[in-house]
Amino acid sequence: MSVDVMAGREIPPSVREFLGTAGVLVIDGEERGSSDGGTFTTVDPATEEVLAEVPQATAADVDAAVQAAKRAHDDGRWRGLDPSKRASALFKVADALKKHANDLAWVDTLDHGKPLKNALGEIISASNCFRYFAGWVDKAMGDVIPARNGRFVYSQREPVGVCAQIIPWNFPLLMAAWKIAPALAFGNTTVLKPAEQTPLSAVWLVRILTEVGIPDGVVNLVQGPGEGTGQALIEHPDVDKIAFTGSTEVGKHIMRTAADNLAKVTLELGGKSPNLVFSDVEDLDKLARRSAFACFYNAGEVCTAGSRLVVDAAIHDELVSKVAAAADGTKLGPGWVDGVGMGPLVTDEHLQRVAGYVDIAKQDGAELVTGGTPPDDLDTGYFFRPTVFDGVTPDMRIAQEEVFGPVLAVQRFEDEDEAVALANDVSYGLAAAVWTRDVGRAHRVASQLQAGTVWINTYGDIDTTVSFGGMKQSGMGRELGPHAVEAYTQVKSVWVAT
Ligand code: NAD
Ligand code: MG
Repeated sequence: MSVDVMAGREIPPSVREFLGTAGVLVIDGEERGSSDGGTFTTVDPATEEVLAEVPQATAADVDAAVQAAKRAHDDGRWRGLDPSKRASALFKVADALKKHANDLAWVDTLDHGKPLKNALGEIISASNCFRYFAGWVDKAMGDVIPARNGRFVYSQREPVGVCAQIIPWNFPLLMAAWKIAPALAFGNTTVLKPAEQTPLSAVWLVRILTEVGIPDGVVNLVQGPGEGTGQALIEHPDVDKIAFTGSTEVGKHIMRTAADNLAKVTLELGGKSPNLVFSDVEDLDKLARRSAFACFYNAGEVCTAGSRLVVDAAIHDELVSKVAAAADGTKLGPGWVDGVGMGPLVTDEHLQRVAGYVDIAKQDGAELVTGGTPPDDLDTGYFFRPTVFDGVTPDMRIAQEEVFGPVLAVQRFEDEDEAVALANDVSYGLAAAVWTRDVGRAHRVASQLQAGTVWINTYGDIDTTVSFGGMKQSGMGRELGPHAVEAYTQVKSVWVAT
C-alpha cells in the first residue's frame, strides 16, 4: 500500500505566509528580484511540490551585492560600531532565531526534507552559534611584542573585509549561521549564497538581521546555482575572502579561482569518515544503533557521516546484523510525520547519484546486506532505504568516495594497526570515531587518526564552542570555536618608536 505523503502536513499559517514572500534577493537592504527577471524553483523533496519561485541572481546582481558589502565595509557602518552595540545585535539575532524556531524548522523541513525535530535542533544550534559569537565581538585581542629596545610593538586584529559565503543544502539555516555569525562578530561584511536546492530559510534569517538593526549592505543575499551565480561571486575582484562549505571538487575549483585575486579562503569539504569499533565495547545493541545513526542521520547527507564502519573481526558478524536491523527499523517518511527517523534525499538528481553508488558498490564486489532501493510504500518523494554494504575493501569506490547519502560501507580489521591503516586510507580527513573500553588504546588510536575531529565512545558531537574543520582533502582552516578568529580577522603589526 502506498503512503499519502501529504497526510499530517499542517504547515503553520506564518510559514505559509513566509513561503509566499520568500522569493527575493536582498541587496543593500532592499528585497528585490533579479535584474533579468530570471527565476528558479525549489521543491519539497517529500511531496515533489514546488515551494517557491526564487530570483536567480545574475552577474550584475552579484556585482551589486558585492559593491553594497564593500561600501558597508569601507564606510565602517558595522565594524566602526561600538563592540557592545554589535554584540547586542547578535544576541538579539540569537533570541529571534529561538523565538521563530518552530517556523524556521518547518521551512527547512519543507525545503530539505529532514524530520521536523531534527530541523528544530538545528535552529536552536544556529541560535546558539549567534549567541556564542556575540560573546566574541569584544574578545579578538592582539599582542604586545617585546621586539627591540626603543620600539613598542603591538598587533591588532582587523576584519578581512568583504566575505563571499557559499553553503550547501544539508543544514540550510545552520550552515548560514556558521558563516554569518563569525563574519559579523569580527566586523566583516558579507554576501551569502545558499544552495539552490534550499534557498528559503536564509531569507528569514536575513530579515531577522535587518530587524535587529544590522545596517543595510552588511549582509547581502544572492540566490542561484553554483555555475552562474556562485561563479560570479567567487570571481569578483572586490571579494576579500571566500568561505565555502561543499564538495571537495568545488572547493578545489574555488581555491584555484581565488588565486587570481588572492582572496583568502576557508574550505569545509567532504568526508569518508571511519567509525572504528574494537571488540571490547560494552553494549553491542547500543553501538549498532549509534553506528546506524552515525551514517543515516539526515539521510546520510552529513559531511561528518560515519559512512565507513571499520569493525574488529571478532564482533563483525554480530555487529553488522544488528546495524542492518537498525537500518531496517528506521521509519522513512515526510519530516512532519511523528516517529520518522529519515526523510527523503534532497533532490531526484541526488537520489539518482546515491542509487548509482549502490550499483558501483555491487559491481566492485561489495555484498549488499540491506537496503539499496527506494522503499516500496513511498512512490512520491525522493526516498531511499538505509543501505549497508559488507565486505568492502579499500580498492572499492564505495570505500573511497563520498556518497552523501544513507549508504554504509563495512570494513573488517584483525588488529589495531590494521584498523588505523584502514581508517586513514582515504583522501579525506574530516572526522573519525573510536569505540573501546581500553583508555590507552582510545588515546593511542585517536592520536593516529588523520581527522579534524575525533570522537571517543561517541559519534557526531559538534558544538559552536569547538573548532571544526578538515585535514587532507576535507578542507582548509577551522570554523567555530576559538579558531574562528583566524578565519575572519587579519593581523596588523604596529611599530612605535619610543
Ligand atoms: P557542492 O559543492 O556541489 O555545492 C555547495 C555550494 O557550492 C552550493 O551553494 C553550490 O551552488 C555552490 N557552487 C557549486 N559550484 C560552484 C562554483 N563553480 N562557484 C561557486 N559556487 C559553486 O556541494 P553539495 O553537493 O551541494 O553539498 C554536499 C557537499 O558539501 C558534500 O561534499 C559535503 O561533505 C559537503 N559539506 C561539508 C561540510 C563541512 O563542514 N565540511 C558541511 C556540509 C556539507
Ligand atoms: Mg528544496
